[in-house]
Amino acid sequence: MAVERKVEGDSQGRQSFSGLLSDPTVRERWERVRRYFFLRESTYDMSNRCNLRCEGCYYYEGEKQFARENRDPEAWRELMRAEKERGITFVVLAGAEPALVPELLQVCYQEIPLGAIATNGTIRISDSVGYKIHISVWGNDETSERVRKYRNLLGRQLKAYEGDPRAVFVYTFTRENIHEIHAVMEVLGPAGAKVTFNMFSSPVGYIGPLRHDLASLRETRRTMMEVLRQYPENVLFSPYSAVAHTHRLGLHDLFSCSYPRCNPSEWLGLGRSFRQYRTDLTWDRDVACCVPDTDCPDCRHYASGSAVVTARLHRHAKDPETFRGWLDYVDTYLAVWVSGYEKGPNLCPRLVPPPGQPAESL
Ligand code: SF4
Ligand code: SF4
Repeated sequence: MAVERKVEGDSQGRQSFSGLLSDPTVRERWERVRRYFFLRESTYDMSNRCNLRCEGCYYYEGEKQFARENRDPEAWRELMRAEKERGITFVVLAGAEPALVPELLQVCYQEIPLGAIATNGTIRISDSVGYKIHISVWGNDETSERVRKYRNLLGRQLKAYEGDPRAVFVYTFTRENIHEIHAVMEVLGPAGAKVTFNMFSSPVGYIGPLRHDLASLRETRRTMMEVLRQYPENVLFSPYSAVAHTHRLGLHDLFSCSYPRCNPSEWLGLGRSFRQYRTDLTWDRDVACCVPDTDCPDCRHYASGSAVVTARLHRHAKDPETFRGWLDYVDTYLAVWVSGYEKGPNLCPRLVPPPGQPAESL
C-alpha cells in the first residue's frame, strides 16, 4: 500500500486535511487504515502448473508461463530474505496454482508473514500458512463447468475452506455471469463465507465473450450494490469500490496506474519497489504488474485497484464524500488482503464519481 502522503488544503477550494478529519468517525477510520501504510507488496508466481484450464486465464498468456519452476525451498527462502531487505512487507503468491507447491508457501510465510494467496480453491492449503486465501469464483457451477472445466466447483471450494478465517471468495464478474452471483450467494451466504468482487479484465488480445462492454459494466454495478445490501455480513465491498471498478474508464485511465509496466519512474511508490517474480525467480521491469499480460485499458482487476486506487489519497482528499469513499475503498482492501483486519461499516453510502470525472460519468 504505497500512498501519496502530501495532503494539505490548497488554493482550488479543496478542504484542508484536518477539516476532512473533523468528523470523529472519519478520523477514527483514518487512524485505523493509516497504520497499514507500511505495506509494500510484490507478487510471485509459485508454480507454472494448474489443475484447471480456464478460458481467459491470464497466467497462460505471454512469456511468464514458460519460465521453469524453481522448487528449491532454500532458493525461495533466500529470495524472501532479500525481498525483506529491500523493504517488501507483503507478498502476493499466485501462479498458476500455488496450492501445488505447499512447501514453498510455508517458506514464504516463515520469512514474510503478511500476504495473500490466489488459488482456485480445489486443494486446501495448510492452516500453518497464515496468509489470506483468495478463492476464485467465476459463476455458478454450470458456468464453472463450461469455462473452467470443473464439476461442482463451488461445493468443492466450500468443502476445503468453509469456516476458515483466511478465506475470501473472489467473485469475478464477466459479461456473461452477472446474475449468477445470486445463486452463488445463496450457497456462500448461509455458510458465513466472506466474499468480495472482481472484474474480468481481458488478457492482451482477448476479445471473447467474457470481456465487458458499457451495458455489462452498468449492470454489474447495479448487481454489486444489490448484493452488498442483501448480504452485508458476507460481502467485503463498498459503493466506491463499485464505482471505481465498473466505470467506463479502466483503472489506469482513472487513477494512473503506478505499477512499473505503466510507470517508468524508478523513484516513487510501486515504480520503485514492486517486482513480479516468475517461477524461475527472475523478473522483468517492463512487464511488471500484479496482473501481467492484462490489457491495460480494460484493467479493472481487484488486485490492481488495491494498489492503484489506494495510492491516490491526495486526489481523493478533496471533499468529505470523496474522501469517505476512498476510506471505504482502503478499508475494503485491508479486510480482503490483510489477516486480522476487520472491515468497518461503509462511511459513504452514495455513488460518488472518481476525482476529475463528472457525476454524469456514473
Ligand atoms: S485456476 Fe487460475 S491459474 Fe488455473 S487455469 Fe484457471 S485462471 Fe488460470
Ligand atoms: S494491467 Fe492493470 S495493473 Fe497492470 S500495468 Fe496495466 S493498468 Fe496497471
